[in-house]
Amino acid sequence: MSNTWKPRTQAVHAGTRRSQYAETSEAIYLTQGFVYPNAEAAEARFVKSGADEFIYARYGNPTVAMFEDRIAALEGAEAAFATASGMAAVNGALFSLLKAGDHMVSARALFGSCLYIAETLLPAFGVEVTFVDGTDLEAWQGAIRPNTKVLFLEAMSNPTLEIIDIAGVSKISRAAGATLVVDNVFATPVLQRSLELGADVVVYSATKHIDGQGRCLGGVVLGARDFVRGALETYLKHTGGALSPFNAWVMLKGLETLDLRVRAQAASATYLAEKLAGHPGLARMLFPGHASHPQHDLAMRQMVAGGTVLALDVQGGKAGAFAFLNALNVALISNNLGDSKSLVTHPATTTHQRLSPEARASLGITDGLVRFSVGLEDADDLLSDILSALESLKLR
Ligand SMILES: *Cc1c(COP(=O)(O)O)cnc(C)c1O
Repeated sequence: MSNTWKPRTQAVHAGTRRSQYAETSEAIYLTQGFVYPNAEAAEARFVKSGADEFIYARYGNPTVAMFEDRIAALEGAEAAFATASGMAAVNGALFSLLKAGDHMVSARALFGSCLYIAETLLPAFGVEVTFVDGTDLEAWQGAIRPNTKVLFLEAMSNPTLEIIDIAGVSKISRAAGATLVVDNVFATPVLQRSLELGADVVVYSATKHIDGQGRCLGGVVLGARDFVRGALETYLKHTGGALSPFNAWVMLKGLETLDLRVRAQAASATYLAEKLAGHPGLARMLFPGHASHPQHDLAMRQMVAGGTVLALDVQGGKAGAFAFLNALNVALISNNLGDSKSLVTHPATTTHQRLSPEARASLGITDGLVRFSVGLEDADDLLSDILSALESLKLR
């Protein structure tokens, strides 16, 4: 295996461990434990285990290791630790970097469960958290304190698709001696090289584009080997966030087609944005890949394409949004994203229902807002579906 290979080659080959049968497709090692040839070997492995010496699947497993090595090669990271879900990855990254008395600065626009960790759990364990408008570099700088240990953000926010300048936040983080943790789910490893932009740690929910076909939960934390194999691994292996070998295998196969899928989904999203811009049935359309997005230039500097999700603010508030969702025939109503099937969500009544109306308003989540995750269907079928659903609103 060569580390000069480009990401698409790494995505197919990196991390492969072939058994004595020389299988083409990676094996699923569905085992919790491992046996030793003798007692001395067991003792030696507990003292120090080598790269391909496993002890217990909560610590590591050959199929899981293949997934970890493959995504690390793809991301350009020294090491990765795979987790049972995206939230186990966020939990692992933040709790292994922070302790009571430390301070974290976080972007305000966060995935609901990330917000729960930052707003409720970390403070309960003595970590102070300051929330800032992630797009405002002066706000990040102003929030830094002598005990600031972590800066945390989602590079493209959910569901309003704000873009945060990773290189800009990274400069502030490095000057403060802190660690910048980036949740890169919406941008994907294909469209954004977060480590090269200055992130120190990257986390993914593999549940989204990496599986991309709606099957398994999974997550991963990537970063420097010292951190991943040190504090992070210690925390995760003792707290039980390990990924199952079967789910690791699904994710491993997902990586082989990730580039093709994400580029096709991003191309369709770009096409839909071009066609929908200025549509009278929409109060607003947000897509970072379209010139109308307030941070279009930053998005194009930081990413290869504008992503795979559109935010459509449908005329008529909640009633308009519900009528729009109910009129769609191709796109399915769901709360997931990154899937080969196009999925639509009404954040105000589902994913962001628990927020107060004021908090939703401050994040730009209006009652008409619909998140549209673009799948692998023919883009013209998606366009007709959206246009006829918007047309039907006029007849209400
Ligand atoms: C889905 C998601 C998560 C959580 O991932 P799970 O796999 O559902 O635990 C975290 N962050 C973002 C941005 C997400 O979209």
